[in-house]
Amino acid sequence: MIRSLLLATSLFVGGAMSPLAAMAAQPANVGDAILAASAYHDSGDYQHDFDVVVAQARQWIDETAPKTRRPAIVLDIDETTLSNWDEIRANDFGYIAAGPCDALPKGPCGADAWEKSGRAPAFASTRALIEDAQAHHVAVFFVTGRHEDEREATERNLHLAGIRHWDGLYLRPMTSHGYAALYKTPTRERIERKGYTIIASLGDQPSDLSGGYAKKGFLLPNPFYRIP
Ligand SMILES: [Mg+2]
Repeated sequence: MIRSLLLATSLFVGGAMSPLAAMAAQPANVGDAILAASAYHDSGDYQHDFDVVVAQARQWIDETAPKTRRPAIVLDIDETTLSNWDEIRANDFGYIAAGPCDALPKGPCGADAWEKSGRAPAFASTRALIEDAQAHHVAVFFVTGRHEDEREATERNLHLAGIRHWDGLYLRPMTSHGYAALYKTPTRERIERKGYTIIASLGDQPSDLSGGYAKKGFLLPNPFYRIP
């Protein structure tokens, strides 16, 4: 159907590449992607899909923890434990590192200022998973791509969002940059070398989960940005 439509359009313009064919050869339109991502969030589909993955992880943790010696889970922070939706929407899905964030819901909202303000709410399903894991004697570790200079703000934010206990919070050393997995994978290895078995790793980016050192990875939806 699409092929014949393209052929007809192609013939119509006398053999030159048709507008539809030209569009198909181009990257996705960013404006269309913003509309689709906003609709995905605002319809409730994002929260639904997120909660489905968290429920799968929770079931796996409940089944696996009793059969495991010193079980642990690893969670990412942003778009896994804490939601930055207010900042994401204010910046129209762009990433703005510097500058203040004092006009919400209007942007721009500097990401550094936003994270240091410690205002991000927790995902209720993730918070419940953490509490459930702890009730099953599972150690909880956060491994985030945020840098060490955000440790105090991140701890304060977790407390404010109702997450009060964890066994370790690993932030990226100030000298570490580049691919997230180059820092996250060795950090999970460090946790396992302490004698824990990581039964589940939860994150919103493939780079949160690659490289092993977890029995099972759970990838949460995030069409809003990519951390390679
Ligand atoms: Mg994340």
